[in-house]
Amino acid sequence: MTRWTLPPDQIPGAWFNVVPHLSAPPQPPLHPGTREPVGPDDLAPLFPMALIGQEVSAEPWIDVPGEVLDILRLWRPTPLVRATRLEKALGTPARIYFKDESVSPSGSHKTNTAVPQAFYNAREGITRLTTETGAGQWGTALAFATAQFDLDLKVYMVRASYDQKPYRRIAIETWGGEVVPSPVDDPGHPGSLGSAISDAVRDCAGRSDTHYSLGSVLNHVLLHQTVIGLEAKEQLGLAGERLPDVVIAPCGGGSNLGGIAFPFVPDAGVRLLAVEPLSCPTLTQGEFGYDFGDVEGLTPLLPMYSLGRGFIPPSIHAGGLRYHGDSPLISQLVRDGRMEAVAYPQGKVFEAAVQFARAEGKIPAPECAHGIRAAIDEALAAKETGEEKVILFNYCGHGFLDLAAYDEYNHGRLPDEQGS
Ligand SMILES: *Cc1c(COP(=O)(O)O)cnc(C)c1O
Repeated sequence: MTRWTLPPDQIPGAWFNVVPHLSAPPQPPLHPGTREPVGPDDLAPLFPMALIGQEVSAEPWIDVPGEVLDILRLWRPTPLVRATRLEKALGTPARIYFKDESVSPSGSHKTNTAVPQAFYNAREGITRLTTETGAGQWGTALAFATAQFDLDLKVYMVRASYDQKPYRRIAIETWGGEVVPSPVDDPGHPGSLGSAISDAVRDCAGRSDTHYSLGSVLNHVLLHQTVIGLEAKEQLGLAGERLPDVVIAPCGGGSNLGGIAFPFVPDAGVRLLAVEPLSCPTLTQGEFGYDFGDVEGLTPLLPMYSLGRGFIPPSIHAGGLRYHGDSPLISQLVRDGRMEAVAYPQGKVFEAAVQFARAEGKIPAPECAHGIRAAIDEALAAKETGEEKVILFNYCGHGFLDLAAYDEYNHGRLPDEQGS
């Protein structure tokens, strides 16, 4: 067998909190004005109390509400697949597995947190959410989720994507969301995630019926994504496989990486590997310290690796990996040496994507292809040493709305970004 599913009643009933497994409690976020640790009252205008509680929780497990499980069951549990055809193409003794999060309604892992976020907001009487989106994956995921709970949604979309990539905008509108290009007050500017966050936070701050929703970086977001790693662990057991030697995922804000990797943090022998673009090398070249999550400095300061909030990465195709900062939890694991990080140039990433597509049939999102690049390199290293390495990576999204990028690569028009 090469593909393992779980029965629908075996979706994890609780999320895995990595906090009790860290070397020290996480440093608190700081208020942008006072630089004092933020309290629940500071965050209440933005987030529902349930999510604020999860943001600071040190409980090892947090129950998934039944209403959330009912919706997750539309596509979960997701398959765990052994990439035997890729193994053969590489001639590697390694066993390569991927967790297929591309089967969700919006085609990526992001729905795993969009659903609980919409649920908790609706339960606390909120009727409208604002958010930002880069290439549109988060906007589509949240639009699907808000449709399930009859919430209004306004999405500030990075202008360069709004202009060049209409399909995710159309999907958001189909699910009932409203989309506007960001920055709203500067029509000549291509925009960035950091500036779109500023727009979305400003919109929400002025209205009591509205909260803000973030698709990555924050502790509660990574918490919701741990269903990925929990299911994968279960499925590796079903496959008769041992624990992986290495768990790999691309890292933009850290949510799909945290999702697959956190449940393996207590397993000391398992290496954890973050993969980022060389043009936005937050973990490999950024500095650890307090920085703002947005460009304007409206958000709390977070303890994280950052390239500086003013950093505007080149417009590579992996839009979801173009963020100046990173999850504080991921940052702490990297700083403690529990997690490794590697960066690749765009050309090497697409080479891996095409190799994977030809062997396994699936066309990955450019973000996802970063993890595939690293998985292939791990498998090739195992070929050198003859090691029967077990590799697990997160297939975090499909690339059917990124075909223009493949067209550029296939016809030799893909620029390798700066630094490569
Ligand atoms: C958004 C996205 C990412 C990057 O976000 P993380 O929070 O780092 O996971 C990576 N891959 C896909 C497919 C995405 O949609």
